[in-house]
Amino acid sequence: MSLTFGPNMGHARTNSLIELVKAAGVVGAGGAGFPTYQKLSTKAELVIANGAECEPLLYKDHALMENHPQEVLSGLLLAMDQTGASMGVIAIKEKSRESINALTPHLPANVSILEMEDVYPAGDEYEIVYLATGKRIPAGGYPPDIGVVVQNVETLYNVHRAVEGYPVTHSILTVTGHVKRPFTAWVPLGTSYSDLIGAAGGLTIEDFVLIDGGAMMGGLTDDLTAPVTRLTSGLIAVPADSKVAVRKGQPEKAFRRFGKSACDQCSLCTEMCPRYLLGYPIQPHLVMRSLLTTGEFSETLTHWAQACCECNVCSLWACPENLDPKGVCATTKRDLRDKDLWLSPSKQQDMMKEVHQLKEYRNVPTGRLMRRLGLTGLEGHAGLVEYPGTGDRVDIPVSQHVGAAAVPLVTVGSGVRAGDKIARADSGLSVPVHASIDGTVVAVGDRISITK
Ligand code: SF4
Ligand code: SF4
Repeated sequence: MSLTFGPNMGHARTNSLIELVKAAGVVGAGGAGFPTYQKLSTKAELVIANGAECEPLLYKDHALMENHPQEVLSGLLLAMDQTGASMGVIAIKEKSRESINALTPHLPANVSILEMEDVYPAGDEYEIVYLATGKRIPAGGYPPDIGVVVQNVETLYNVHRAVEGYPVTHSILTVTGHVKRPFTAWVPLGTSYSDLIGAAGGLTIEDFVLIDGGAMMGGLTDDLTAPVTRLTSGLIAVPADSKVAVRKGQPEKAFRRFGKSACDQCSLCTEMCPRYLLGYPIQPHLVMRSLLTTGEFSETLTHWAQACCECNVCSLWACPENLDPKGVCATTKRDLRDKDLWLSPSKQQDMMKEVHQLKEYRNVPTGRLMRRLGLTGLEGHAGLVEYPGTGDRVDIPVSQHVGAAAVPLVTVGSGVRAGDKIARADSGLSVPVHASIDGTVVAVGDRISITK
């Protein structure tokens, strides 16, 4: 990558890491976008760099570690220093030999690589923490509860850049599926999905839908005006009638009705659930049973949805009836919150069991998962390139993170340079937003639009 504009956040090295990371707008790139300055404000014994990238077809973490090993490692060491951690682990799939080979010569004695099988969901932080430490994150809790901080490798790269004086202006992502020229690249924040498709040479099919993110956990979108954010990891074009598109596109009313009429309570969804196998209080077949019941008994059954991480193994891999227990669990969790029925962490922890004896035999191999999803033949083509799009216009959301939206500092007509702060962090949990291209501000609202 060449992000060519210079440092612009002032005397970077004179500020604390927390201040620099906040000023640079760094948020967790591998999840919901939790501000990283807050995550680094904790104390830990171990920091884990999550480069497992278990979603089929995405290649961005692999490309980042292969091409920028020292920057990723620098970010990890900064995070260790900040949290007081004496050890660091980089979690990578064993098949990512190029990444492992690139990182290995630079590893200090207190940082090791955790080689993971090519299975799904290897990148889930609960799996990684258990594999790295033998300990489980408490149900309803967080990794710091057991002295661990987990950060995606892109986040750590951005931590390194923050100290060098560079704010977050780009996201590394993969555009693939049925496009002419799949690619992985650093893309300016605010770039539209239609520009991404154009940069990939256009589509090779007519009737398509886009998966926003990974094939397993990503949602469907047909909004080509949607902008790239700090959280965007990929865009996958698939046929509108493909299995993965049809299953993901089912409305709630439909998947609940099908679940009610066709679930035979075989419990395969539970038996294959990664969180259940780790001993967490999640049993999707019981949540499916709640569709058939009413009253207090039904309410008790719904609590078995609470620990669901929405990995989709139950719906897209396990269920022989093509039902959607993941959809039912996700909507049930929403309802539990709305009705104030959410169980406290201590109650959830009372429901924990031992790790399942057959856990290691029930991993989902990525190759077979690709076949099951109808994605075979699309893998392995999205190498890292300079972004091939024009980037003439960006529409940058002022909220791309957990917490309060940033507050615009620019007005229509303002001239900006890439890297300029265009919205400041609000009070409380919040981070600022920076321009991703040089140009003129043409609109200010939920998004700040800039044209060249
Ligand atoms: S696997 Fe499918 S049919 Fe079996 S219990 Fe789960 S949802 Fe019902
Ligand atoms: S989506 Fe399904 S398999 Fe994944 S955690 Fe939830 S219930 Fe378990």
